[in-house]
Amino acid sequence: MSIISTDIEQAVRLLTDAQLVAIPTETVYGLAGNIYSEKAIHRIFSTKKRPFFNPLIVHIPTVKALEKIVTHIPEKAKLLAAAFWPGSLTLVLKKNSTVPDIITAGKDTVAVRIPNHPVTLALLAKLPFPLAAPSANPFGSISPTKAAHVEAYFKNDIQMILDGGSCANGIESTIIGFENETPILYRLGALTLEDIEAVVGKITIKNKEEESPEAPGMLARHYAPKTSTFLVHDVAAEIKKHAGKKIGVLVFKTTLNTPDIVEIILSKNGSMQEAASNLYTAMHALDAQQLDVIIAEKFPEFGLGKSMNDRLQRATFK
Ligand code: AMP
Ligand code: MG
Repeated sequence: MSIISTDIEQAVRLLTDAQLVAIPTETVYGLAGNIYSEKAIHRIFSTKKRPFFNPLIVHIPTVKALEKIVTHIPEKAKLLAAAFWPGSLTLVLKKNSTVPDIITAGKDTVAVRIPNHPVTLALLAKLPFPLAAPSANPFGSISPTKAAHVEAYFKNDIQMILDGGSCANGIESTIIGFENETPILYRLGALTLEDIEAVVGKITIKNKEEESPEAPGMLARHYAPKTSTFLVHDVAAEIKKHAGKKIGVLVFKTTLNTPDIVEIILSKNGSMQEAASNLYTAMHALDAQQLDVIIAEKFPEFGLGKSMNDRLQRATFK
């Protein structure tokens, strides 16, 4: 029997009983558990094989719920929350003592957001606790953007996947922290840097592991297919370097017209939003085809293109 279901009441029962439920969000599917249940949180780390140094994002239903977990909200955090919540923005704020250390990897800050998906908002509204929910994939692998992706990863490990269709945005949230009240970008994501800067002004980016002990878990290799992957401007030139191999290509909008090569076009009309929503599904599909290499085309380096290049870059790292 499939563990994919739309029964929100069943999800409430399982989560209340310290079980995990995969939940839909507008970014990617999350593997959710009660933040106050030590058992549930341990299950998240063990199911994902996620190292404990990598802190979890807490999902809440309303701005009001924020007061129960943080001690201080910088002015610019208030502006960003007002502009973008519910939505694909995670804020890293000073936590209060009720938030378990295992959620935050021992840090005195907690990452939090209000997701923008009607099913998960309805679920959160019924629960008396927030949900910790990292992406519902084994540590390091491609994030799931459909219930079927989660099922392929975890059908023997969890009891329920709450079905909310395909994730509209398709890549993870953008993460903003604060150093002396000044916003810093820790992770590029589904909300563009340009949109954020329009609200709070120019922002410093610290999204490399080595420059950012503040944001553990920004690993160089992440979001990675099993198939060896390359990210290039000129896909046709890269194909020539892999003569005789089984090749899959991931292009933005224009076909290469190479009949013997598996090709996925992410958005025929050149929409970066559409490309982002298709990106991980395409990577899952190519990775399932027993190819020798995947060659991905670099996106223009702005807006969602910048976020997608970041993910593809981490997918190529050996
Ligand atoms: P995800 O794997 O999508 O759930 O995102 C979790 C990521 O959020 C972590 O790998 C960190 O980069 C970031 N994060 C979570 N909590 C914190 C925190 N307290 N301080 C800084 N970054 C955090
Ligand atoms: Mg993840």
